Amino acid sequence: MDYLPDDKRYQSMRYNRVGASGVRLPAVSLGLWHNFGDVDVFANGRTIARRAFDLGITHFDLANNYGPSPGSAEETFGAIMKKDFHPFRDEMIISSKAGYLMWPGPYGEWGSRKYLVASCDQSLKRMGLQYVDIFYSHRPDPDTPLEETMGALDFIVRSGRALYAGISSYSAEQTAQAVKILKDLGTPCLIHQPSYNLFNRWIEDGLTTQLRKDKVGCIVFSPLAQGQLSSKYLNCIPEGSRASKHTSLNADTITPERVARIRKLNDIAKARGQSLAQMAVAWTLRDPVVTSSLIGASKVAHVEEAVAAVSNIAFSAAELAAIEAALK
Ligand code: NDP
Repeated sequence: MDYLPDDKRYQSMRYNRVGASGVRLPAVSLGLWHNFGDVDVFANGRTIARRAFDLGITHFDLANNYGPSPGSAEETFGAIMKKDFHPFRDEMIISSKAGYLMWPGPYGEWGSRKYLVASCDQSLKRMGLQYVDIFYSHRPDPDTPLEETMGALDFIVRSGRALYAGISSYSAEQTAQAVKILKDLGTPCLIHQPSYNLFNRWIEDGLTTQLRKDKVGCIVFSPLAQGQLSSKYLNCIPEGSRASKHTSLNADTITPERVARIRKLNDIAKARGQSLAQMAVAWTLRDPVVTSSLIGASKVAHVEEAVAAVSNIAFSAAELAAIEAALK
């Protein structure tokens, strides 16, 4: 049966303006790093993506290397586009990135113009798209002149492969330089995509100040610290969880000390009338410099839980103090 999205999909989601640009992103966006590869069950990913769109999530984040196997998450998303989403392309912001290893030899990773342009073309082909809305430099390249990497983003936008340019995991200083180069080229930097969650607060040390100053958007990835900031690991490492799979989240991270902190945070969340996962998402959105919280999900319920967090992103001074104490 043809997919018909929920006609109430725009009623409860918040859409935040991305820096000083003309576009807005949903407060919660969905990333396809995990659970959409060719090792995963297609029907599950498809149901998650459809539910996300039904709940007002208009932004889907990809990268050339998402899978496994690398590239297969874009193929999965391409299949969902073809089956379900193609009539709604203009209601969506779809992003991709290049920076990590994609193919052998000297041109298959990092930040050269050669790699970025070829990778963007490959991503478009895998997803069956004419353009992506945002194309990112996935990581800074210490060996390629920043002018070349930013020049490639400018070219990708001017040639119609992408509508906007973004950077990911650039330091505050690298961001200031990249934003300046892009501005001079006439293709403003739309957005930065850094990691950020209760256990990982590096962006508070200069980057958010820079983004505020430059009026660049900010979409934070792994707001649940890959699932640690949920009730999932309170008692054990459940079978099938990300930590049990020994991929990007090492089970050794879930130490007794970490679990003790998670328990304290869980109590604070309960007192706010939220689950821990909801409080973790809400906490990333408490400062308006953050445009969107970029979640992952292995189940539809994960998306539903995160979206429900958006209705309460305000924190009292006492709650913030209790969170700081729990993290000590
Ligand atoms: P999260 O921190 O949101 O972790 C998502 C995982 O947590 C889920 O797959 C699930 O894992 C678990 N989870 C989610 N909700 C719940 C819940 N309510 N209860 C229990 N467990 C839950 O984000 P990700 O680490 O997945 O990253 C999100 C996106 O960010 C990526 O898809 C990608 O788009 C982007 N990203 C960007 C990077 C970059 O370099 N720019 C790097 C990393 C990510 P499970 O059930 O499998 O245990």
